[in-house]
Amino acid sequence: MKYLSTRDTSGSEPLSFSRILLGGLAPDGGLYLPLEYPRIDAAELASWRRLSYADLACAVLAKFCDDIPADDLRRLARRTYTPEVYCNVRAGEDPREIAPLRVLGDERGTQMSLLGLSNGPTLAFKDMAMQLLGNLFEYTLAQHGQSLNILGATSGDTGSAAEYAMRGKQGIRVFMLSPAGKMSAFQTAQMYSLQDPNIFNLAVQGVFDDCQDIVKAVSNDLAFKAQQQIGTVNSINWARVVAQVVYYFKGYFAATGGASGQDRPVSFTVPSGNFGNVCAGHIARMMGLPIHRLVVATNENDVLDEFFRTGRYRVRKSAETLHTSSPSMDISKASNFERFMFDLLGRDARRTVDLFQAVEADGGFDLAGSADFSRIAEFGFVSGRSTHDDRLATIRDIDQRYGVVIDTHTADGVKVAREQLEPGIPMVVLETAQPAKFAETIREALHREPPRPAGFEHLEALPQRFETVPADVARVKAFIAAHTGL
Ligand SMILES: *Cc1c(COP(=O)(O)O)cnc(C)c1O
Repeated sequence: MKYLSTRDTSGSEPLSFSRILLGGLAPDGGLYLPLEYPRIDAAELASWRRLSYADLACAVLAKFCDDIPADDLRRLARRTYTPEVYCNVRAGEDPREIAPLRVLGDERGTQMSLLGLSNGPTLAFKDMAMQLLGNLFEYTLAQHGQSLNILGATSGDTGSAAEYAMRGKQGIRVFMLSPAGKMSAFQTAQMYSLQDPNIFNLAVQGVFDDCQDIVKAVSNDLAFKAQQQIGTVNSINWARVVAQVVYYFKGYFAATGGASGQDRPVSFTVPSGNFGNVCAGHIARMMGLPIHRLVVATNENDVLDEFFRTGRYRVRKSAETLHTSSPSMDISKASNFERFMFDLLGRDARRTVDLFQAVEADGGFDLAGSADFSRIAEFGFVSGRSTHDDRLATIRDIDQRYGVVIDTHTADGVKVAREQLEPGIPMVVLETAQPAKFAETIREALHREPPRPAGFEHLEALPQRFETVPADVARVKAFIAAHTGL
């Protein structure tokens, strides 16, 4: 399987999986996609039903990274997807299962369920892909005798998922910038309590945008970047997207009767921000998984909902991006959206370039009434939005009706899923975080503390290891150079 950029208009040589694994954007500014999606026929799909999660991951990944020997891939998948890594199960969940499906009940003639993706070390779905990435990076770097210094900025979820995936890994260091005093006590403690010598938390005296600006400035200094072997693990990383494809298969099998079930269509609802999670669902569907609808759920930052309803894509400026109680979806420009647009445009790189240049120049584009937009339905996409009041009402309703406490992002998903139910077609909502991470809103909705998994009771009391730095590019560079010794 070979890969090309969504903006490749010059007939470049396609690259192997290993070549794009450690990179971010393609040099032309596009995103990598396989030359074609591997198709799974009914017989192969049926044979995958009985696989463990790790072996299912191996089967899916093998279709996309055929330059990694099958035995190595199996070993990496089996080391990643274990009950020990995904151990933060909730009451009623089977502790041996990875990504357990929890059936809530029948609503409007169909089965509603939650796919539990947040049982990993940081209690959010990003662990599902990031843990694999940590093992893949370590494996690939060792093969080439290389090392990698990961630089990132975080306002919470992504940074901690990256740190927990890379901690203790040979040849890898993480330098993670976060805004000092701006994250929740839980999120801060989760990151800063890591004592691993290869993890460096830099508490920047500024806001999240300052952190991101510093990362951009450092990355734009190509000489420094090369000398310090700087890389990233942001949400456009192809391996992250492909690792997320796996749980659509898992959720599909579980919702249609498990190992002995029959194939029939299922819909998925995905709380969306950077469009990475739902992009994986799109890829699973292109591979032939019988997905009826892919429901994109947004919060008040509804750029994607506007597009899927009207054809108008209008990115917002940072100042227009609202801070909501589902903060991991507070995105005004979804970094993976271009991957879907490339497919919608019939994989025409020239037109993809034109549209995304219009995004840079004019802040968006309008496909309303076009032949392209009329094809949206063929891809199964629909959408909806949810507000703070919707989240509170949904958290209360799911608690009262089913005795299950859901987090704010999952609540956005459930609210929007309920608007898209169709009789007889099971609806699976991806559960993207545990409520313990968003205690303030849970208290507002339920007037009590969210449940915390075992081992997290005293998180905020653990000793913390971090370095406070001013919002200054030169100081951050000096810190990195001093700690890489390069
Ligand atoms: C990252 C995140 C999302 C958004 O996922 P995307 O892949 O960026 O669309 C939703 N919910 C939670 C809890 C997250 O951490």
